[in-house]
Amino acid sequence: MKKKIAVYPGSFDPITYGHIDIIDRACKIFKKLIVSVFINPNKKTMFTADERVKMLKRALKGKNVEIECFRGLLVDYARKKKVDVVIRGLRAISDLEYEFQIAGINRMLYKNIETVFFMPSAKYAYLSSSMVRHISSFRGDVSKLVPPCVVRAIKKKERGNKPKG
Ligand code: ADP
Repeated sequence: MKKKIAVYPGSFDPITYGHIDIIDRACKIFKKLIVSVFINPNKKTMFTADERVKMLKRALKGKNVEIECFRGLLVDYARKKKVDVVIRGLRAISDLEYEFQIAGINRMLYKNIETVFFMPSAKYAYLSSSMVRHISSFRGDVSKLVPPCVVRAIKKKERGNKPKG
């Protein structure tokens, strides 16, 4: 029986099929998943938090997830939501060092918190939001990497950024 609720935090700038792969795996195991856009004021993003939430809502329609936005420390958010499981994705060994550090620090700040890692399907092992941003900055095709609502949002952003005249 599925008992626990888990939170999947991230920048989701923008959401990719890699994130969705992790979400689908987590949904099979947890009672409910809260997908939370974490706002880091020190990080410049392509999409605003509102835009990222909107894309998540469209891309995850029909799945058993709650979508939110949060500013601050993950441990404070987890306490507030009474959730003690954090989901993260591991693409390759290169992710491990960073993820290991965050999971360790989170456990130091909140001893009950458990970080659970999921491995995506091999076809998404090289996919990241930063790659999607890079490809789209050169107007490359990202339709195999992100859901259609994200492709549309990227195109809309490109039109908005076009120099006038
Ligand atoms: P953050 O800025 O917190 O790293 P991201 O949105 O980039 O946020 O990623 C959130 C989580 O999803 C991280 O654990 C990251 O490793 C994982 N992730 C991102 N892309 C993929 C992918 N293609 N496959 C599996 N996990 C992924």
